[in-house]
Amino acid sequence: MTSQNAGWRQGAACVAALTFDVDAESPVLAEGRRYADHAMVMTHQAFGPLVGVPRILQMLKDVAQPATFFIPGLTAERYPAMVEQVIDSGHEIAHHSYTHRTPTSMTPSEERADFERALKVLDRFGITPVGHRAALWEASWQTPSLVAEYGLKYDSSLMDFDTPYRLETPAGTIAELPPHWSLDDWEQYAFLPNPRLGEVIQSPLTVADMWIHEIDAMRRHGAMFMLTCHPFLSGRAGRLEALRTVIETAMERGDVTFATCKAIAEATLRDPDLEARKLEPVSVPADLYPLE
Ligand SMILES: [Zn+2]
Repeated sequence: MTSQNAGWRQGAACVAALTFDVDAESPVLAEGRRYADHAMVMTHQAFGPLVGVPRILQMLKDVAQPATFFIPGLTAERYPAMVEQVIDSGHEIAHHSYTHRTPTSMTPSEERADFERALKVLDRFGITPVGHRAALWEASWQTPSLVAEYGLKYDSSLMDFDTPYRLETPAGTIAELPPHWSLDDWEQYAFLPNPRLGEVIQSPLTVADMWIHEIDAMRRHGAMFMLTCHPFLSGRAGRLEALRTVIETAMERGDVTFATCKAIAEATLRDPDLEARKLEPVSVPADLYPLE
């Protein structure tokens, strides 16, 4: 194994974050509110908070590992009992927008209003989130600054590293905990013809193999295993058992630590050896490329 002295890993070869984005109906409605009329589509998404979350909470209890739940404001309002279950379980709850519209699809003022509305909803449950993840990870260049401005400690949307880092924004320094598409159940399991959310129903056994391989590689490279799952997808029985296998296999390795995003962010902000990056928006001359 490579260096054991990286403070943010606290001596582990690989730090794993189990994150669950409880999107429910919100990403479908973000495709158009007309989908509210589609009973199959709405109930397909409702499976997440109704069945997926309780099953996931039981599985996490079985393996005795912590997790982070990113819950959109709209989902929290529609499923308050689910939010209470997550609170009672002791897992972290974090900010995942209000509407699940992507920041890149909104004006800066719309993004800010959506961000604030989500905070107000969580506050009604007594939750003061310390972390944020943009809808579909589609952060704007403003997003990390909003996270800092509203006093949150971390974001989990950017993809330029596979280790956490300190990110200096115009509004202050936060931790960035990078996710990646390869560690997202959406690409493996999302199948919905209309709206077209995905076209894949991968074997959970294949997915477990892929994620275990990634954990083993990350143990060698000292990386962060940031797993993103969605209860409407990974709450299905066969997929949940594959996820249990991934977690149990990682635990058997003996050098993988599971932590909430909050704990990883705190360790990141405390670690003076970690790279600090400045938020540097990309600008391109108008005569170089067409806009679309
Ligand atoms: Zn989401």
